[in-house]
Order: sequence, then structure tokens, then C-alpha cells
Amino acid sequence: MNKFTAQQESSELFRPGGLSLFSKIYGSYALLVLFTVLIIGVVLIFQIGRDMASELERTLYTKVTYLREPAAELLQTGLMEMPREKMFSLRNSISQLSDAGDAHISIIDASGEVLVDSHGYADSKQNQYNAAEIQEARRKGEGRSVRHNAVLENSSMYYAIAVTGEDDSVLGFIRAAMDQTELSRRLHRINAIIFVGILITLVASFILGFFLSRGITQRINHVKEVAVQIALGEYQERVPITQRDEISQMAYAFNTMAQTLEDRIQAISANRNQLEAVMSSMDEGVIAIDGNEHVLLLNRIAEQLFGVSEQYCLGRKVYECIRVVSLLEALELALKEGKHTEEQLVLVETNQDRMIDLRVSPLEGDSGGIEGAVAVLHDVTRIRRLEMLRRDFVANASHELKSPIAAIRGLVETMIDDGEMEPGIRQRFLTKVKDETLRLGRLVGDMLALSRVEAKDENLDFASISLITPVRSAVEAQRALADQKRIALSLDLPATPPQVVGDDDALSDMAGNLLNNALKYTTEGGSVWVRVFRDGDKAVLEIADNGIGIPEAHLDRIFERFYRVDKARSRQLGGTGLGLAIVKHIVLAHDGEIKVTSKLGAGTTFRVELPVATGSEHR
Ligand code: ADP
Repeated sequence: MNKFTAQQESSELFRPGGLSLFSKIYGSYALLVLFTVLIIGVVLIFQIGRDMASELERTLYTKVTYLREPAAELLQTGLMEMPREKMFSLRNSISQLSDAGDAHISIIDASGEVLVDSHGYADSKQNQYNAAEIQEARRKGEGRSVRHNAVLENSSMYYAIAVTGEDDSVLGFIRAAMDQTELSRRLHRINAIIFVGILITLVASFILGFFLSRGITQRINHVKEVAVQIALGEYQERVPITQRDEISQMAYAFNTMAQTLEDRIQAISANRNQLEAVMSSMDEGVIAIDGNEHVLLLNRIAEQLFGVSEQYCLGRKVYECIRVVSLLEALELALKEGKHTEEQLVLVETNQDRMIDLRVSPLEGDSGGIEGAVAVLHDVTRIRRLEMLRRDFVANASHELKSPIAAIRGLVETMIDDGEMEPGIRQRFLTKVKDETLRLGRLVGDMLALSRVEAKDENLDFASISLITPVRSAVEAQRALADQKRIALSLDLPATPPQVVGDDDALSDMAGNLLNNALKYTTEGGSVWVRVFRDGDKAVLEIADNGIGIPEAHLDRIFERFYRVDKARSRQLGGTGLGLAIVKHIVLAHDGEIKVTSKLGAGTTFRVELPVATGSEHR
């Protein structure tokens, strides 16, 4: 999995999904509060209802027990036989106990007939034998029931006890009843208060809980957001710490972790930058691979050599981005057998093959095992070419020197052998010897001049000069040859001559060589033009002729040493084949450029461009 998809996948996790932490905390809290408050409320309502009912029952019980004795007497004696004063006192007690009619008290005989009643005389009452509380009292000694009165639209609680004789037979009953409407009304009021209380508690708890949960989750969310930022590479993000609780401790731990991470990453990137700086400033190409042949590093020079980009190669198998078999084989040997390889490599390219010195070594890990391999490639094309040029030069120079020496030797030997040689012939021989010596002199002179300009700055004396000065002296030196060949030599110089930074003698040699060639390779009666002018920031010297011209196929090579289009003609004209090589070196030593245009039979133009002096050069 590459870095990008890993990051993409993990960022999926950063997206909110499912229930948020806030909903979970707040939801559980709200449910807990709701259940607790509802259970407390229900228990409270239920308990209060029960308490009130049992209080009512106790009141009825007190009233009924108070009447036990006088009622027993009445039931035993009978209503008619009851002494008047006792009857009066009983009625009095009953009416007191009935609290101005709030309680309804009756004394009932065993057959269910009401004998005395707080709300009127007995005969107006129905038989109570079947009343539930009476039935129960008959069986258990006491009984209770709640009955709805359709006429009065209320419900009352009835409490009755059985009055027994000495033989435990039931003589009758005392019953007290009380209207429950008031009680229910009170109960409703209490319930309403409890309900409102529950509601207020719930609302207050929900609001409080909301802020509490939000306070906690906001802080956790903050830590999470910073964590996500850090995970996405923003290592300098930190969580602000405002309190001293566990979340703050977590935030602190988190900040410390982020700081460590940032430090490490900075150290790593500093190391990497250093490595990159070293790698990119190296003249050698470097390729490093890991144990699985994946490219770890490929520097700029290696990119140029193989025409690939590091970005493409990183993380890929080395053979996917480089297809040079000998390099791949050397890397494989280093990886599998720990073998060091040094070899020469030729990279075939369209313009020119490249010669590479290749060194491949295994990379050893801390444990001593092979963890990768590194290849260092040194481009030696230029060095090899220079070596070849030098070899060619030596071969050419000795060849060039050999022929005049052989000619001189032949001539001198002939003269020595032939003591009687005619003075005329001897004179001709001696003239030839002189010519060959002059040629030797020119050759040696040109070779010296070439080696001097090749050593570049060392032997050149740079100064700000007018380009006209060396040109003029070259023209003066060549004027005799022009006159001799009756060639029209025209000189076109500007009023304000361009200044260049250069060596007067070297520039004069350069102009002299070009002018000499123009005169040499132009037939008698021809023309040569010398022009100096300024073109932008260039000082230009143009030397043109309408001479024999140069075939196009040779144009690229005429600046090579000893290269001549027509060897015999050049030799005959006193050429060495080194003139243009010297010219090119002088121009290059002056940071200039030389161009040639030519048409066979029509003429040749050499154009030398040198940078105009700005006055700020330091040589
Ligand atoms: P050489 O000493 O033979 O002149 P150069 O290096 O000066 O050597 O020139 C190389 C060759 O380029 C010459 O041999 C000649 O064939 C050709 N050449 C140079 N200048 C001219 C010119 N102005 N017109 C025609 N051919 C030229």
C-alpha cells in the first residue's frame, strides 16, 4: 500500500460516523436522570396515596373502638330496653365522633339492621347485612371497603368491627364511613406538585447535563481535531491546556508526543536535506536500492544519465526504471552475493555514446547482513575523449613533423653523398631545405601557440581593450600578402569601437589567423572584408572572403587540430592545420563564440562574437 492510499484510508476514519461522543454521554445521562426521577416520582405518589388511605383508616378505627363498649351494651340490651340516659350519652358520643357530619357512624345489629346512625334514625336505613365490610367483619372481626355513592357522586371508605358477646357470638357491628373526595383532592394536588417538581428537575438536569457533556466533549473534540491535523502532517499543531484534570493530562501527553514527533521529523528532514544537498552536488550518479530491489535514492546525475526521474523511480523495482543490463546484474550480484563490482559501461545515446566508470557495492546493515546495494556512476566520456584527442594529437604531430624532417634528411644526405653536385642544383636543394625548416618552424610555432592558449588564463594577459587594436595590427601584418595576391582588403571599423576584456596578443593572433586563411584560400584578384561592430552586448569581428569556400560536410571539423579540407593545397600554401584550432581556443578563452558560413566557390565568412566589456569584470 502506498503512502497516499494509506493516508486516504485513515482520513476516512477521521470523518464522523455513528453516534457522536456527545450524544452518547448526553444520551446516557438524560436516560439515567429520566428513569431515576420517574421511579422516585411514581414511588412517591404511590406511597403518599397509601399513607393517606391508612391515616383515614386509622381515624375510622379510633372512632369505632371508642364506641365498642356502649355499642355492646346497646346490642345486648336492645334498642327498646336501653335506659334513656345511656341512649342519650351514646347518641351524644356518636354525634361528636361524626365531626359535624364528616364521619358517618352506624351501629348495626347482627341481622344487618341499623340501630343507631349519626345521620338519622335507624328505621330510615336499609339492611346492611350484605355490605362488604359487614360481611368481612363477621368473618374476621374487622372489615373495610370503599364504595361509590352514585347519588352523592362521591366515594367513601367504610370501616366496621364486629361486637361480640361473652360467648364470642357476633352481637352486631360498629361502622364508621368517611367521604374520600377531599382526600383524593389533596392527593391530586400533591401529585400535581410532584409532577411539576419532576418536570422542573428534568428540564434543569437536561440543560445542566447538556452544558456539562458539551464541556467535556468539546475539550475531547479539540484534542481529536489537533490529533487529526497532526496525523495529516501539521506537526506544529498543539492543544491548549486550561485545566488540570485527566483530559488536560491527555492533552499534555499529546502535546509532548507531537513535539517529539516534530523534532524527529525535523531531524529526519534536516538529514535528508543534507543528504540531498550532497547527492545533488556530486559529479557522480548515485543509485541506492533496498534488499527488495526497490529504489531508495537516485540523484540528479543518475537521472540525467538514464533519462528517468527520481520521483518515478522511488519505491519501484530498479529494473522497472533502469534497463541497463550490466548495471542491473552488478546490483543483483551485490545484493545476493555481497560482491563489489568495478567495470566500464557504455551508454548508447543518439548524439554520442557515454562512457561510465561503474562501481557497485553492497550496503551492510547493523547486523552485518546485506540490506541493499549502491551504484556510483562516474561519467568519464570527456576524460576519455580528451585522452583520445591527446593521443591523436601526438600521432598527428609526429606525423606532421616526420615529413619535413625526412625531406631535410633526404636532401642533406644527397648533398653529402654527391660531392660533385652542380652549384645550381645544390642551391635548389638548399632552398628546399630552408623551406622545410621554415615549415618545421611554423609547425612548432603553431603547436606552441596552441598549447599556450589551451593553458587558457595562465598565459593570457587580460585587460579592457578596444577590439579594433588587435584587428588593426593583424591587418597590418597581413597587408603584404594581400598586396602580393592583389586581393582587395577592405576594413570597416566603427567610430566608437567596442571594448572587450582580452589579451591583445592573443586576439591579434586570432584575427591574424582568420585573415591569413581568408587571403590564403582566395584566388588572386579576389576580395576580403574585415568588419568590426557592436551587436547588442556583443563585440563582433567578421572576416569574409569570396575565395574557394568550404564544402558543407567539412564545416563541422575545420576547427579540429591538423584538419584540412585539402591537405596538399594547405601544405603548399604553408598551412599547418592548427590555425583554426588556435583561433577557437582563443575565442573560448575570451568567453566568446565563433561561427562559420561558407559556400563552395563563393566564399567564406567567419564571425567571432565576444562579450562587450561592462567595466565590472575581474580577471
Ligand atoms: P591551415 O593551416 O591548413 O589553414 P586551419 O586550421 O587554419 O589550417 O584551417 C583548416 C582548414 O580549413 C584549412 O585547411 C582549409 O581547408 C579550411 N579553411 C580555413 N579557412 C578558410 C577560408 N577562409 N576559405 C576556405 N577554406 C578555409
